[in-house]
Amino acid sequence: MAALGRVLVCGLGVSGAAAARVLLARGDTVLLADAGTPSVRAELEEAGATWLGAVTECPDDVDLVVTSPGWRPDSPLLRSAARAGVEVVGEPELAWRLRLPLADGRPAPWYAVTGTNGKTTTVTMLEALLLAGGRRAVAAGNVGRPLVEVVTATDPDGTPTFDAFAVELSSFQLHWSSSLAPAAAAVLNVADDHVDWHGSAEAYRDAKATVLALTPVAVADAGDPVAAALVREHPHPVTVTLDEPQPGQLGVRSGALVDRAFAASPAGDVLVESSALQVSGPHNTVNALVAAALARVAGVGAEAIGRGLAGFRGGAHRNVLVASVDGVDWVDDSKATNPHAAGASLAAYPRVVWVAGGLLKGADVDPLVAAVGARLAGVVLLGRDREVLARSLARHAPTVPRIVVPSGDDADVAGVTAVTGEAVMTQVVRAAARLAQPGDTVLLAPAAASMDVFTDYAHRGRAFADAVRQLH
Ligand code: ADP
Repeated sequence: MAALGRVLVCGLGVSGAAAARVLLARGDTVLLADAGTPSVRAELEEAGATWLGAVTECPDDVDLVVTSPGWRPDSPLLRSAARAGVEVVGEPELAWRLRLPLADGRPAPWYAVTGTNGKTTTVTMLEALLLAGGRRAVAAGNVGRPLVEVVTATDPDGTPTFDAFAVELSSFQLHWSSSLAPAAAAVLNVADDHVDWHGSAEAYRDAKATVLALTPVAVADAGDPVAAALVREHPHPVTVTLDEPQPGQLGVRSGALVDRAFAASPAGDVLVESSALQVSGPHNTVNALVAAALARVAGVGAEAIGRGLAGFRGGAHRNVLVASVDGVDWVDDSKATNPHAAGASLAAYPRVVWVAGGLLKGADVDPLVAAVGARLAGVVLLGRDREVLARSLARHAPTVPRIVVPSGDDADVAGVTAVTGEAVMTQVVRAAARLAQPGDTVLLAPAAASMDVFTDYAHRGRAFADAVRQLH
């Protein structure tokens, strides 16, 4: 590809640093902007980049800006670039433009997934299916390695390392993408999230829809009204359903996942028995069906898809059974960081002691609490916004017993003054053990982000699992 000229890379997180490295290796001129002092600064300067630091004005002679997903579109530097007429792209768009040709002269196809929840699970499932089908595939984007790195990766003999990409794209990344044309693309679902970044729910939905603009095959969950509406107008829509599939759908028939969208016979191809899936809950069946649809576009056969799905173990902190103690299952779904995810997670278990709370990011929890109240055997609340949930439960599920655990913004937690996430979680788990009866599931699905008490969702999940192990 021709030289890109002078490229300003804004934000040197994982994808920004990868973009800078790839551009420098190509011989492009690279300028770096970051409000902090990233650890990669010295390495990139050594490789020839120019450090600008915390600039707010786009230099005159810049040809292209590559921005990190963390930067909001209204940040001063990006606004200044827009005013100056300089194109701003995200790292996926840059990667799309830098793809290497395979032996047939065409770059490896992308199979893209976006949505509010389920992206990582679906993309890692898809990677497994592509690998089962014999492709040299990798999951990349908002998961795994940066796209710019994998699309330019070569083996020692110079041939591209990968021939298919399972690509996870966030709404932030899609906002800065304009020419991506995946061989197939899926929108899993669209619920309220990240409205603060995008400015409105409509802008968030429109960013998700970008992934479908230039793809020949558009996949969505028929059970999600917004996602289903997005693919309805597409020339080749494919939807997935938990019911019996109609022609053009993948769905569930007689306890098996069945493809009636890509199969040669009208009855469809049986992919795998539902009972063979190692991931639990209806939401994970949806994810499996979407991954299967994308793999079919890639030419993977029904048998390989079945094998890949049966062999797929879920990701860490995503509906993982931590332990069964005295007839009670303890499940870590710390990754349920918004109400939509928690709702899907709760629907997977009949009687739940729900562990919830953290940073709600302004989300409305009333619809979730009203919807799940009937299956709650008890609730344990933690984190900064625990009282918001407590008030919602008082309104919509007043008879459900609930225990509120002080979470570090209080002076003292049960005699522990230096409050750690571990100390909070120990109290939470003891409280949940008091509420749970044999046959119940204690489910950590907080509907909220974790950073008030924990480093991140993984830390929260680990603290939960450790506290559960101390129960016996
Ligand atoms: P993402 O990458 O979009 O955050 P993950 O695959 O990491 O998605 O899943 C995050 C959480 O979202 C899971 O832990 C689960 O609670 C929930 N979830 C997963 N798949 C779905 C789905 N298809 N619909 C709704 N919620 C889901």
